Parts: sequence; structure tokens; C-alpha cells
Amino acid sequence: MEIKYVSTTCPYCGTGCGFNLVVRDGKVFDVAHWQRAPVNGGKLCPKGRYAHEFVNSPDRLTKPLIKKDGEFVEATWDEAYDLIAEKFKSYKPDEVACLSSARTSNEENYLMQKFARVALKTLHVDHCARLCHASTVAGLAAVFGSGAMTNSIKDIAESKCVFVLGSNTFEQHPLIGRSIIRAKEGGGKLIVADPRLTPTAKQADLYMPFVSGTDVAILNGLMQEIIRNGREDKEFIERRTKDFEKLKEAVMKDDYSLENVSKVSGIPVESLRTAAEWIATADVAALIYSMGITQHTVGVDNVKSTANLMMLTGNMGKPGGGVNPLRGQNNVQGACDMGALPNVYSGYQKVTDEAAQKKMKEMWGVDELAEGKVGYTVTEMVNVLAESPGELKAMYIMGENPMLSDPDLTHVEEGLRNLEFLVVQDIFMSETAELADVVLPAACYAEKDGTQTNTERRVQRWKKAQEPPGEAKEDWKILCELGSKMGYPEQFTFESPEAVFDEVAAVTPSYHGMSYARLDPDGLHWPCPTEEHPGTPILHRETFAMPDGLGVFSPIEWKPPAEVPDDEYPYVLTTGRTIWQWHTGTMTRRSWSLEMEAPIGWIEINSEDAKELGIEDDEVVRASTRRGSVEIPARVTPEIIKGVMFIPFHYKEHPANRLTHNALDPVAKIPEYKACAVKVEKITEE
Ligand code: SF4
Repeated sequence: MEIKYVSTTCPYCGTGCGFNLVVRDGKVFDVAHWQRAPVNGGKLCPKGRYAHEFVNSPDRLTKPLIKKDGEFVEATWDEAYDLIAEKFKSYKPDEVACLSSARTSNEENYLMQKFARVALKTLHVDHCARLCHASTVAGLAAVFGSGAMTNSIKDIAESKCVFVLGSNTFEQHPLIGRSIIRAKEGGGKLIVADPRLTPTAKQADLYMPFVSGTDVAILNGLMQEIIRNGREDKEFIERRTKDFEKLKEAVMKDDYSLENVSKVSGIPVESLRTAAEWIATADVAALIYSMGITQHTVGVDNVKSTANLMMLTGNMGKPGGGVNPLRGQNNVQGACDMGALPNVYSGYQKVTDEAAQKKMKEMWGVDELAEGKVGYTVTEMVNVLAESPGELKAMYIMGENPMLSDPDLTHVEEGLRNLEFLVVQDIFMSETAELADVVLPAACYAEKDGTQTNTERRVQRWKKAQEPPGEAKEDWKILCELGSKMGYPEQFTFESPEAVFDEVAAVTPSYHGMSYARLDPDGLHWPCPTEEHPGTPILHRETFAMPDGLGVFSPIEWKPPAEVPDDEYPYVLTTGRTIWQWHTGTMTRRSWSLEMEAPIGWIEINSEDAKELGIEDDEVVRASTRRGSVEIPARVTPEIIKGVMFIPFHYKEHPANRLTHNALDPVAKIPEYKACAVKVEKITEE
């Protein structure tokens, strides 16, 4: 019997913890702690601890499948490739769209956007960052010049006041929660604002329950209180920022007095006053947010408001401070960095910029690219498919499951069914793969080399621990083989992920100084522009990444969500996750240690609301919105604010996204998962 330990990076959340995969006779069979792992020092949350359990599931896809007469039939790789190439070549470039994957490596995301742009010549390539942090990328880039977490996970522990807004860090990024606990142990205060008394909120020194969708009002109110008391950092504002007067004019309005903000948000005036004082008077304060901020029709406004608060109080560019968006998927930061977005090439080089187009054509050795304008986002693709049938005809989806993850699932299904040809590449037969014409079996994280970039911009290695099952192949190999079949062998001949990474480093300024040799074992934070550069754990130390070096204050007015409660749908519905499951459950629901902890969905209902509705704990109720209904067990609890309901979105049996609203932020095109109007009823026997 041969046992080996292979150090790699967790495939779940954006924290990027390292662990050892334990391999016995060529098969992964356990996870063991990797004590020197740079982010987590050997500690793991339950998902990381059991990240081996789905790897050798009997449900893994092992052969290419082609649908014939409505049934999947096993095929050879050549048969599948020939069909895909023939079909893709039969469409005009803009009739084909691609979805890349935040679950796959940087190399694979890079190749997917290259495949879309070089082989298909389509403008339409995007991925699920659109659904979680598109507003971060757009909002922070507009304010700071760079749309990413400004500080490192480690230095959160140095903060003297951590303000968590719209993030259940202890459940969704548990090993970042550890840095928050260290901050508390060092005398720092923790403020948590959340509609639910989450495990994160339970650790707070000050907990502020609030009604979903009132974030800008809260942030403006805090800023008004800080300015009224003369506690803004005047020196920082003068030296490092511009447009302060515009911000001041907006936030000093009577609408944002603490009394008025309290009425809108439900947070007591005293709590708001205390929060403002703690943030403004701490030696250094950090703001942490996640999808509670971003997943709104005002997601970009919310993000800019968090930046306003941190600049106002001079908490940028130093340890223990900053604006810290926690990215969801393991490699969603990397998928954005690699240009799996319709508006940018890798390193956020704009597709509309002629110099960038010229550079990419030269680097890729092609005369022509899809260029000149920005393609469709994920959310726009679905809308076009459902509302303008025939405009998009074919789609290539790698490692995403929009049939459970996207808002308004009835609309999504209608759209996907309008496609003439759908290719899905995945490790399991997902709800989306069921609709495909061709399914390609992919290798999972344990079966390939590569890199991923965590939420703090740290690029780290994946290492191959076992062979993929059956005939499954690594995504990078599939993309290269398909690229060659499409007529671009020179552009898609790579011997290894390392060779792909070398091309990434060559074309991507923030990755220029990186190589596999340098990434082992601690990784590097981008920007890392030269081979000697040590990486950049803290951004904006001296200047912001703007042409004039100044951070830009943005005057933002609060706007309510696109759909607000009324007589027919009197409650606010918000969605989220549990620590035991991951997104659409394709991996965690095949991990028995996790599945047994949280095997079914639920709707959280405030105890007083439940009493008024005559609903008991555990009773199956009907939750309905204008998009559809779900029958789901009630969890009656005082730990959610009155008037707000919560459903986790993992469960196909109780799909929260059948209810959610696909209204979009006008800039980031992110949907409003965090607030729509819902009614909840008892189910009566007919
Ligand atoms: Fe994996 Fe995130 Fe848990 Fe770390 S915190 S073990 S990266 S799921």
C-alpha cells in the first residue's frame, strides 16, 4: 500500500485554505491538515475538512455524452469534439455564448476566454462573478482604481474595529472569521449589521439587525454622524481623496439623520450612534462585506458607500483597515483576473481599448478578434435567450449550474430551452447538464495542476493528487483540444498548466512577476509586476490606482429595492447559505459528512410573524413571489428581524431561486437576490 500527501488549495470558498489530500494507492481518500498552509495554518472548516468525499463519488461523469432522441448516449471524445466543432462553426460568432467557471483554475479561465475570443470570435463570455461580486469589481474600480479586496486576511487581526456588513463570515468564510476573533482578542471591537442573528452576529460587541436593502441609508447615516461630530479624518481626505464636498452634501441631508435612518432600517438610533463612534475613533478600522452588499439593484452604490466610509475615516492603505469584499467561490477572483468577463481581457485590460486589442492579437498570433464592444453578461444572456429567441443559438457552459444558481429559475429554464445547441462541461450531471445536447466529463480540483486566486488576491497552487475517473479530462486539456479542432492549433497547444500560466504571466501586468516556482508554497498577492517583486498584500498604501492617485468620494442616495413588500406580498425575502453546503450542492450534497448535517432546505420566519400567520416550527408552508412558489419547512426563530424571511439556495427540492427577482444593477448587471417581496401561507388540505 502506498500513501502520499499532496498539498493543494480548498475547492470551496474564496478564503483559499491549504490542506493535504491523502492518497492511498493512487486514490484520494482523506484530507489532512497542512500545518504551514499560508492562509489557514492548518485549520479547516467542515467543508475543507471533508473536501475529499465527493472526489470519488460513483456519480462522477466518466464519458462524453451526446443527447439522441432526448436520451444521453455515451460517445467517444472525437465524436463529441467533431459534433461541437461542426455546430459552433455553423453559427455566426455573436450567436454563441460561453460561461466560464469560478470553480476551475486560472489557467482554465484564461483558456476559456481565449477560446471564446480567438476560436469562436464571440464577444459573449462571462461567469458567475456576475452573480456575486460584479458590483465590487465595478464599484471599487470606480473609487480606488482596483476592484478587489484592499487588505490581506492576516491583517484583519490587527484591526481595532471590524465592521461586518452583509457578510456571515463565520459560516461562509470561517477561516477569515478566525482573523476577526484575533482582532477581538487584541482589544478590537466587532460590529455586525445583518437581518439575521447569524453565528457572526453572535460574536459581535454591537449587533445591528436591519431590513434588507437599506445599506446606503445606514452608511450615509453613519457618515453624517461622523461628520457632525467632526470625526472625519481631515488630513487623509485632503491628501488622498477628491470630491469630499459632493459626498458631504449628499450625506448631510435630513433623510440620513440617525432618526430617519433608524425608521428606514430598523436599527435603533443608539446603536447607529455607537457604531459611528467606534468606527471613527478606532486606531484602525476594517470594513468587511460580502453578498449582502453586492446582490442588489444598487449593488454598485452599496459598494461605493462602503468605500466612502473607509476613506472618510482614513482607514485605507494600512494594516488592519481597508474595504474587504469577501469573494465567494474559490477562484472567482482569479476568473475575473483572467478576463472571463465580457468587458476585459486578463488583468482588467479593456476590450474596448485599441492598444489592448492590438496587444492581445499580437500575443495570440491572430489577425482578428471579437472586439470593439462589450458582450453580454450572464444575466443578459439569459434575458436575451428567454425574450429574444434566436438571437443567441448556442452556448458552452463550463462548471456552472445556472438552473439552480440564477434568479427566477422559470425564466432561466425557458431561456436555456430556447437554445439550439448547449454544451455543458462538468464533474457531475447537474440540473443544467440535464438540458445539454453534449456533456463533457471534467476532472475535479484534486485531479489537476493549476493555480487559483483567493479573495485577498493571493495566487496559490493546486496539485494533482489522482487521475480523473474513467475518460474524464482536465478542463484545460478539453479547451486546448477543442481549440485545435476549431482550427487554432498554434493558439491552443500547451503541454501543461504551467505553460498556460507562463502565457498568463506574459500578457497580464499584475501577474508579470509570477511563475509556478515562485508560487510554491506561499503564493503571491497581485499586483506582482516583476520577478523580484514580493507581491502586494495591502493596496493603496501611498496612492490609489487612479491616474491622479486620488480616491474618489461618490455622493450616493438611498434607493429601495426594485420590489418592495405590498399587501399581496408583505414580507422581504433574502437568500444565502449554510456552513454545511456549497452553492448548488453538486459537491457538498455528495459529501455525506456535510449532507447529513443539513439535508433539506428551510425558510426562516420571525417568531412574531409566524404567530400572526399561524405557522408552527417545522410546518411545511408555501412561499410565493411573483415568479413562483416553493413548499418548504418553516424554521420559526427570533433570530431574524420581523418582516424578513430567509431561504438558503442550495436545495433543488426547495429552490430559493424559483422565487428571486432578476432585476439588475444598471452598471454591474448583478441581480437582486437579497431583497424581493414574498408571501408565506399555511398549506391547507384541499
Ligand atoms: Fe475551504 Fe473556505 Fe473552509 Fe477554508 S474557510 S476550508 S477555503 S471552505
